Amino acid sequence: MQPFTGFRLCLLCQSADESHDHIFFFCTFTNPIWRFLQSKCRLHVVPNSWVDFINWVSHQWRGRNLENLINKLVLSTTVNQIWMERNERAFTNQRKSQNRVLNRSMELVKWRLLSISVKDSPSARRIVLDWDLPQSFIKPPPELD
Ligand SMILES: [Zn+2]
Repeated sequence: MQPFTGFRLCLLCQSADESHDHIFFFCTFTNPIWRFLQSKCRLHVVPNSWVDFINWVSHQWRGRNLENLINKLVLSTTVNQIWMERNERAFTNQRKSQNRVLNRSMELVKWRLLSISVKDSPSARRIVLDWDLPQSFIKPPPELD
């Protein structure tokens, strides 16, 4: 991986050097966001370095199942929202709170989930509850003749 060549001081917490490991694992601004989403996605053990995490994700979330799809969606959406917040602070001097970044990420994930529907299963029913989705997220079973 290329050395990180961002700003020296983290623009999100302004209390540590900026690096991938810091922004995505140890930053006091982003850490509560990740902890909340980790709990929501029911991820109990997650490596705590960027390189280990990416390797872990590429093995753990390889299968095409609903949980993996949502975990990847949450990860990509939240990384994007955190990076956008970091860049807004760098280039426009505007700041959002942790809650606004978290809520925006969750809102985007939910909107994306609202555009699909899946077969009924215990995990589909759990996702409906966890993400407060309408029952239309679960496809009705095919009608019998
Ligand atoms: Zn920070």
